Amino acid sequence: MADHNFDIVILGGGSGGYAAALRSAQLGKSVALIEKDKLGGTCLHRGCIPTKALLHSAEVADVTREAANYGVNAQFQSIDMRVVNKYRDGIIDRLFKGLSGLVASKPITVVSGEGKLTAPKTVTVNGDNYTGTNVILATGSYSRSLPGLEIGGRVITSDQALGLDFVPNKVLVLGGGVIGVEFASIWKSFGSEVTIIEGLAHLVPNEDESLSKGLERAFRKRGIDFKLGVRFAGVEQHENGVVVSLEDGNKLEAELLLVAVGRGPNTAGLGYEDQGVAMDRGYVLTNERLQTNIPGVYAAGDIVPGLQLAHRGFQQGIFIAEEIAGLNPVAIDETGIPKVTYCEPEVASVGLSEAKARETYGADNVSVYEYNLAGNGKSQILGTAGFIKLVRRNNGPVIGVHMIGSRVGEQIGEGQLIVNWEAYPEDVATLVHAHPTMNEAIGEAHLALAGKPLHAHA
Ligand SMILES: Cc1cc2nc3c(=O)[nH]c(=O)nc-3n(C[C@H](O)[C@H](O)[C@H](O)COP(=O)(O)OP(=O)(O)OC[C@H]3O[C@@H](n4cnc5c(N)ncnc54)[C@H](O)[C@@H]3O)c2cc1C
Repeated sequence: MADHNFDIVILGGGSGGYAAALRSAQLGKSVALIEKDKLGGTCLHRGCIPTKALLHSAEVADVTREAANYGVNAQFQSIDMRVVNKYRDGIIDRLFKGLSGLVASKPITVVSGEGKLTAPKTVTVNGDNYTGTNVILATGSYSRSLPGLEIGGRVITSDQALGLDFVPNKVLVLGGGVIGVEFASIWKSFGSEVTIIEGLAHLVPNEDESLSKGLERAFRKRGIDFKLGVRFAGVEQHENGVVVSLEDGNKLEAELLLVAVGRGPNTAGLGYEDQGVAMDRGYVLTNERLQTNIPGVYAAGDIVPGLQLAHRGFQQGIFIAEEIAGLNPVAIDETGIPKVTYCEPEVASVGLSEAKARETYGADNVSVYEYNLAGNGKSQILGTAGFIKLVRRNNGPVIGVHMIGSRVGEQIGEGQLIVNWEAYPEDVATLVHAHPTMNEAIGEAHLALAGKPLHAHA
C-alpha cells in the first residue's frame, strides 16, 4: 500500500478524462489518470468509432446496390461480418495506439485498475492511494435497460451488437433515439428486416420535429419499419428468436432484440455518495464550472446530466483543466453543442428547435426557413433528399440550424459557428460557399432568409 500525490487525479480515461489529462499536462500539472479498461473509453472502443465504421460499410453496401444507376456494373452479394469487424477493429487499434502514445509522451501517470473514491480527494486503486489537490470524476455511462427487461441471450445492447459476427435476418430495435436508429440503418443496409419500437411520438425525439418527420419519411422509403407511440410490455426468448409484446396487444417476432433505451451514469459503488458528492439518480451534480458540491472535486462527461456526447466530454475535460489552472474559461453552453445522428440519411443540428425557440422568445418573434436539397447540385449528384432548416430571432441572429440528408453531419461545423457566433442571416449571406458542394445549401438557406434567395423556389 502506497500513497501518491498529484496536482490532479482523474478517475476514468474516456473522452472526458483523457481530454482533462492532456490539457492539464499541457498546463504544467502533475496528473494521475486511472483507467480500469482501455484509454479512450466508450467512444473509441464501444461507441462513436466502431458504429461509424459499421455505418461506412453500410454505405458501401448501399452504393454497391445502386451502382447500376450510375453506370457502374457491380453487384451486391453479401456482407462478410468477419471482414467488416476486422476493418472496424483496425481503425480502433490505430486510434488506440495513437492515443496511448500521445498520453505516454506527456507527464501523465496512467494507473491501470479499478478506482474508488475513498476520501473526497483520494482514489484508491489496488490498495494504493492517489490523492489530488483536485479530483476529476469521469467514469462514463452504461447501456440502460427497462425494469424487468434482462439483457442476455438474444436480448442485447449496443455492446453485444458490436460483437456480432453475423447479420441477423430480422431484428427489433427498442428505442428510436440516436443509437437505435444508427443500428437500424446499419442492419437494413446489411440486409436485415428491421422494426424500431419507440414509445414517444417520433424517431429521434430530441430533434426539431421536422427532422424526425423527415427521417421517418426516409426510413419508410428504405423499408425500415417503425412503431411510434407504443410501449414495450415484455419479451420471451426461444431457441431461434424473441417474441416482443407491446402494450397495444401486438406481438413482434425477430432473431434479436436490441435494447437502445438510453445510457445511465456509471457511478454505483464508486464511493461518490459515501464521500458526500451531491448526486441525482446516479448522475453527479455540478455547477456551470463543472464543480461538484465538494471544493476541488469536478465531474466531466456522461455522468454529468445533459447531452451524452463525446465532444461534450472532451470540451468539459479541457474546461476543467483550464478552470483548475486559473484560466477562467468561458462556460460551455449546452445549446451550442452540435448533435449528429449518423444513420442514412444523416440528421444534424445545433441550437434551438423551432418549438423551443418560439417557447423561449415568443411565438411571433421567430422566423424559420427550410431550404430543400432538391435545389442543391451536389445533393442531386449524390442522389440524396433532405433539407436545411434555419431558425432565427426576428431582426436577430440564427439560433438553430437543423439538417437532414446524406453527409449533412459534415456540414454541422459551419452551423455551429453560425449559432455560437450569433451570426445574422445577412452576415452569412455575404460569405461565399464553394460550388458544387452540399455546403452551399447552407449559404442558399441564409441567402433566402436574408430576403435574397438564389436557387430557391419559395
Ligand atoms: C453505440 C454508441 C455510439 C455512440 N456514438 C457517438 C457518436 O457518434 N458521437 C458522440 O459524440 N458520442 C457518441 N456516443 C457517446 C460517447 O461514447 C460518450 O458520450 C462518451 O464516451 C462519454 O465519455 P466519458 O468520458 O463520459 O465516458 P466513457 O467514454 O464511458 O469513459 C469512462 C471511462 O471510465 C472508466 N471507468 C469507469 N469506472 C472506473 C473505475 N471505477 N475505475 C477506473 N476506470 C473506470 C471506463 O472503463 C471508461 O474507459 C456513443 C455511445 C454509444 C454507446
